[in-house]
Amino acid sequence: MRILVVEDEPDLQRVVAAALREADYAVDTADDGEEGLYKAQTWDYDAIVLDVMLPKRDGWSLLAALREAKTTPVLMLTARDAVNDRVRGLDLGADDYLVKPFELSELTARLRALIRRSKGQPRPVIDIGEVRIDTASKSVTIRGVPVALTAKEYSLLEILTLHRGVLVTRTMIYDHLFDENDESLSNLVDVYVSNIRRKLGHDLITTRRGHGYIIED
Ligand code: CA
Repeated sequence: MRILVVEDEPDLQRVVAAALREADYAVDTADDGEEGLYKAQTWDYDAIVLDVMLPKRDGWSLLAALREAKTTPVLMLTARDAVNDRVRGLDLGADDYLVKPFELSELTARLRALIRRSKGQPRPVIDIGEVRIDTASKSVTIRGVPVALTAKEYSLLEILTLHRGVLVTRTMIYDHLFDENDESLSNLVDVYVSNIRRKLGHDLITTRRGHGYIIED
């Protein structure tokens, strides 16, 4: 999963990005509203963390422009006691908000819930045959036995699971698994898939040669 953080306060941007990377998200950052809008329109992020007060273009203006084309889940960061700010953000199409200052654990929990809902998956636990994926604890079991996946293996499995029944192209996988600073080779995806199959069974993920991968519904 890949998240864009639009926040002009350097310390807060750094802390939020670090917490999200710690939670195994790929993270891009933007320092102002123009850069944020450009990135939000260019990439299909799984969610956007959007500050309201930003240089060049404020969070509301960014959100209004984004909503003309995209439904990317947006969590807005608003000032304390600014009820009008929150109402305005929700009316413009924000999906959730947090009041500054906030706990990082609440931010990551809200983002997890936001991303699940946006993929039509309100429950955190998903069963595919004998494989159970818990998107809250990011853990996987098969027939009740815990299976250790690396962060990238888990992220790839989660992307395919949340889109199950739908072909996920290699480009989509690459865009959601890696951030703008990552220079990993795209053939790593094949390695992750083969590792997941070795750990969870060969039949879980189907290859559509030349197109991508699918977990059948
Ligand atoms: Ca700000």
